[in-house]
Amino acid sequence: MMMLAPSLATIQPSVILAPFTAYQVGGPAQWFIQPKSIPELQSALGWAKENNLPVTWLGFGSNVLVSDQGIPGLVICLRSLQHVEVEGDLVRVAAGVSLAKLAMKTARLGLGGMEWAVGIPGSVGGGVVMNCGAHGQDMSKSVVSIQVMTPEGTIETWAAEDLAYSYRTSSLQTKVDYVVLEATLHLAAGQDPKVCEAHVERCNHYRKTTQPAGFPTCGSVFRNPKPHGAGWLIEHTGLKGTRIGGVEVSELHANFFLNREGATAQDIIDLMQYVQEKVWERWQAPLQPEVKLLGEFTGITNLWLPEH
Ligand SMILES: Cc1cc2nc3c(=O)[nH]c(=O)nc-3n(C[C@H](O)[C@H](O)[C@H](O)COP(=O)(O)OP(=O)(O)OC[C@H]3O[C@@H](n4cnc5c(N)ncnc54)[C@H](O)[C@@H]3O)c2cc1C
Repeated sequence: MMMLAPSLATIQPSVILAPFTAYQVGGPAQWFIQPKSIPELQSALGWAKENNLPVTWLGFGSNVLVSDQGIPGLVICLRSLQHVEVEGDLVRVAAGVSLAKLAMKTARLGLGGMEWAVGIPGSVGGGVVMNCGAHGQDMSKSVVSIQVMTPEGTIETWAAEDLAYSYRTSSLQTKVDYVVLEATLHLAAGQDPKVCEAHVERCNHYRKTTQPAGFPTCGSVFRNPKPHGAGWLIEHTGLKGTRIGGVEVSELHANFFLNREGATAQDIIDLMQYVQEKVWERWQAPLQPEVKLLGEFTGITNLWLPEH
């Protein structure tokens, strides 16, 4: 029987993860904590190490597919790490801050450069890891440095160059034992807040008119190959509206899958595999998942996983 140190009383056993994910699917974390401070995070990491438990990070869960069997070990959700400090054109922002809130706050302060992020339902930490982006921008354009915690619990500062950024990837996607604590962003100071806010509004409007709303989804399922994007390939294979179990390919944007009714992670995996097969048969284009699979999945036979 594992004993929790008093400061770790907030570690909970068997917490269902579905409510923590944008797809609203997924089984239990064996152990779960949402630390409110860096020392609490450090202790949780030490506890997992002592008990030989693997650790999985969770931001806002907007780019993950959690297995129906759940995630073994300790899941650490970073949402409660919250601080934003502005100094001139530099913004230090904690991993748990919402990208949408950051976009609105910086626009209000006349700091240009993050307006595009207003419609991305993720956290700063997840955004740094995924190099999320929209409207021709991405995190790599603003990140100057980040603070990470190593698997040993020490804190390091990494320069943007250490992150090896490219399309929707960073070196953190292979160094999964490292957790992002905060990022320092370089933005354009002295802008007219009204202009920045109007930019935010345009980005919001574009999203509302081009992307489906109303059902749980995790946004783009597949990375965009060239020359045709994943949405184009899926649409032109005639797969819009295809349904397996409770999950369906969106009629509005074919690279979005919608949890229409009680979908399971297995339904989503099955639909991903079906779509990959059909797109490959028609176009010989390999669709690689952008969504991160967390936990154990069985029966995956032909899911092309990204190299990163
Ligand atoms: C409706 C919708 C629209 C979307 N639109 C876009 C879009 O336009 N562009 C785009 O790029 N993405 C988009 N996404 C995907 C998603 O929002 C982004 O990838 C986002 O950056 C993920 O952040 P998150 O906090 O939700 O990360 P999570 O989904 O929680 O995690 C993603 C990965 O990062 C890891 N991780 C999370 N936080 C940390 C941390 N602090 N330290 C280390 N590892 C961590 C997790 O283990 C996981 O591997 C969309 C998603 C949805 C639901």
